[in-house]
Amino acid sequence: MTHDTVSVWITADQLLRNHPALAAAEAAVSRANIRVVLLESHTRLTQHWYQRKKLVLLLSALRHYADDLRGAGYVVDHREVNGFADGLREHLAQTGSTRLVVMASAEYAQWQLQQSLVDALALPVEILPNTQFLVGSFDPIPNPTPGKRYVMENFYRAMRREFGVLLDSRGEPEGGRWNFDAENRKPLPKQLDPPAPPIFAPDAATQAVMAKVDALPDMIGSTADFAYAVTHAQAAHALDQFITERLPLFGDYEDAMRADNATLYHSILSPYLNIGLLEPLQLIRAAEAAYRAGHAPLNAVEGFVRQIIGWREFMYWQYWRLMPDLLRANAWQATQPLPEFFWDGQTDMRCMQHVITRAIDTGYSHHIERLMIVSNFCTLAGITPGEVNNWFLACYIDAYDWVMPPNVIGMGLNADGGIIGTKPYIASAAYINRMSDYCGGCRFNHKQRSGADACPFNVLYWNFLLTHETQLRANPRFGPAVLGLRRIESDERAAIRADAARLLEEYRARR
Ligand code: FAD
Repeated sequence: MTHDTVSVWITADQLLRNHPALAAAEAAVSRANIRVVLLESHTRLTQHWYQRKKLVLLLSALRHYADDLRGAGYVVDHREVNGFADGLREHLAQTGSTRLVVMASAEYAQWQLQQSLVDALALPVEILPNTQFLVGSFDPIPNPTPGKRYVMENFYRAMRREFGVLLDSRGEPEGGRWNFDAENRKPLPKQLDPPAPPIFAPDAATQAVMAKVDALPDMIGSTADFAYAVTHAQAAHALDQFITERLPLFGDYEDAMRADNATLYHSILSPYLNIGLLEPLQLIRAAEAAYRAGHAPLNAVEGFVRQIIGWREFMYWQYWRLMPDLLRANAWQATQPLPEFFWDGQTDMRCMQHVITRAIDTGYSHHIERLMIVSNFCTLAGITPGEVNNWFLACYIDAYDWVMPPNVIGMGLNADGGIIGTKPYIASAAYINRMSDYCGGCRFNHKQRSGADACPFNVLYWNFLLTHETQLRANPRFGPAVLGLRRIESDERAAIRADAARLLEEYRARR
């Protein structure tokens, strides 16, 4: 051990209980000689329009993390600065540290900034591997071929085997199957009343952050009614509550939607997982224990585990494989701007109105609303991927650069040419009506394909099929859906095209 001072820089999305940079510093010097630097950068906070509740979550969790570290005997330098690089320079000048240790960022741009510090700062900078994802320690597809499509299912099975998740005594999948998706597509019966996620009343530290965020101009939503967890203990409570109250029915109603309830049986844990308040294996082991104890059925637990160890890890893996080109992808040549109603929810489509308004107010929609309502609409309407990505990044409580492009540009819009998802996730109003109660009480008719009362999802769906028929026919997973076009006479085809052109013009005009 030396008597040098070592600085550890931890960002607000890396609030791990066992942070590798702290462990590395502690292997070299005593705790008293470690300076933990936590920065609130004004430039970073205002780089984009962000959901105000997300900023409160990040900053409040960072400040609580600072208190926890102080309680554990670390010297913490928490600063409000203009930019990260300047903040670090000020910190290093004052502490006289001889070395800086960080954990690699999950995000491409921030990782580039970390790399640039190696040259910019006049001291050794050590960038340790990111431990927030399981693919950091095990790569199920080493050396992937550029441009090749890899399906999530194989990735997921390899992850289950590697981490020993839901396997029987012979090492085979529990229940004899890897996948229970077919059982997880039920609409929600009216009489079910899913239990709400817990509410965490803002303490004085969170209230101070709310005042700071309120003062930032041009952000999305408001800090009012902020009720998210901001500490490890609170996030652990949110996990326990999900496992006890909602996991048992998570699988059955995973794809269901309801106008009066945004969260249903979902976990609402992504905000915590994405900033290190919870960790993937913690969720997986808790869900598996609920299955082994007979508290939750296999279709629910497998469905949940698949989200974490499958989809989430797969998206992160794809992000690092496809960046930065992913940001420029536009396989369907979409050129339409984002309609104005995305920023205020003022549309007659009842589903879009509910989902958008709630996203702005709470920062949350569950997966199917993000995929089959918002992204579906954007794909069908031909909205440019960059604008859609920015909207998601601006509105959601759990939006980060590593998670948006693969989900929005890849899975949601299929704009990456089908590398991430094997088919475009598009559907007409028939799907929305089957899986939700949105269509009852909507001013549009979910059965009509053309005409002034036809649901725009129908008009745009059939217009999309007509426009991209050749391309869609070539996709083995989508081809059969195109066969429906055969039943549409030429008069109706013309009406659909005319109605679609009218709608798109309307959306442009209201900007
Ligand atoms: P649950 O339904 O309870 O699922 C459990 C967990 O699985 C989630 O907390 C999440 O951590 C993980 N998960 C499931 N699917 C994915 C996925 N495709 N990618 C990453 N993690 C996944 N997720 C984000 O974390 N941030 C985003 O900004 C985000 N934007 C999305 C945009 C689009 C267009 C789509 C289609 C999906 C997006 N997702 C995003 C993935 C998913 O919709 C959310 O993770 C999920 O809705 C979060 O709510 P929950 O915690 O209640 O999830």
